[in-house]
Amino acid sequence: MKSRISARARELGFDLCRITSAAPPETGAAFSTWLDQRRYGNMAYLPRSAPRRRDPQRVLPGAQSIVCVAVNYALFDPHNPALGLSPTRDRKHADATVRAPIGRGQPRGLAARYAQFDDYHDVMGSRLESLVEFIHQLGGADTRSAACVDTGPVLERDFAQRAGIGFVGKHTNLISRRFGNWLLLGEILTTLPLEADPPEKNHCGSCLRCLKACPTQAIVAPFELDARRCLSYLTIEFKGSIPLEFRSALGSRIFGCDICLEVCPWNRFAQNSRLMKQHARCDLDRPDLRELLALDEAGFQSRFARTPLSRPGRRGLLRNVCVALGNTDQGGALTALDRAAHDPGPLIAEHARWAMEQIQARQAARGT
Ligand code: SF4
Ligand code: SF4
Repeated sequence: MKSRISARARELGFDLCRITSAAPPETGAAFSTWLDQRRYGNMAYLPRSAPRRRDPQRVLPGAQSIVCVAVNYALFDPHNPALGLSPTRDRKHADATVRAPIGRGQPRGLAARYAQFDDYHDVMGSRLESLVEFIHQLGGADTRSAACVDTGPVLERDFAQRAGIGFVGKHTNLISRRFGNWLLLGEILTTLPLEADPPEKNHCGSCLRCLKACPTQAIVAPFELDARRCLSYLTIEFKGSIPLEFRSALGSRIFGCDICLEVCPWNRFAQNSRLMKQHARCDLDRPDLRELLALDEAGFQSRFARTPLSRPGRRGLLRNVCVALGNTDQGGALTALDRAAHDPGPLIAEHARWAMEQIQARQAARGT
């Protein structure tokens, strides 16, 4: 059964498929400590769902196995600069790329790589449903299953490590020895008993590159992330005013941050994506910040619906765009920012005023 499930998963576009038992994750206690330290910020759904995250039986009573799948989303195409996302690009290069004016001098924003595709919840969700159907054909009428992609109440990285998909690195993300850091994860909890695969062990060794590269010291110790300091959290999940101490660290990032993933030496094994390259959205690669700032709600929806960038909503994304513009040296952005400073949403208006002050202060310092 296991090899048939794995073959079907591959047919559906998943790059890895391995099995673990539905026993509670070994990391449940560490997760509880992390919650007690309130490092989850305002992601209140995490403590709310903690009992289910610590025990798969609360998600699917009678669960016996967890089918873990992964999709590689690395893209590299040296002949197509729009898709030129070399996973070996280092942080210095990434910053130089996004800080410099591109083309006719428009200030550009940078979104995390996984966001430069159609929404992976849709892409993976429909395929996981097909895999569930296949598992039910194999297991018979009594088999029950529940599929999760990211949003489900399971500690997915821990199960992925226990299934041998990869290992959790010191930056707390999953790393595959076959695909590097560029994996999207999904799980199917099922009542079907399946033989478990051996777990993967950690292969970070003495490396500390991700801890050293993080611009906000969000990786407070190996395997310990304080989400409240993390640019991914601040630009996506956090709904309020971005603390002043983190704004310049954002650079041109408007959604997420890939720095700790990019510097990881395991990316030397990254391979070109199979499934996600069919869902690449070139229009989300370094979008023009001034164009984004002009989007009203209808424009925002039409541009970002069914992409990850819709998650923070217009309010959150335009807040991030203001910070990114404030970090550029583009006096030409002042007109767009002045309009945003009168946005009826106080969050956008406050960040637009901050950005104008930054640009004007730099102009004054230069005497221009
Ligand atoms: S995503 Fe960025 S801010 Fe968050 S831990 Fe990694 S490097 Fe630091
Ligand atoms: S950069 Fe080094 S320490 Fe960090 S996850 Fe990768 S191998 Fe581990």
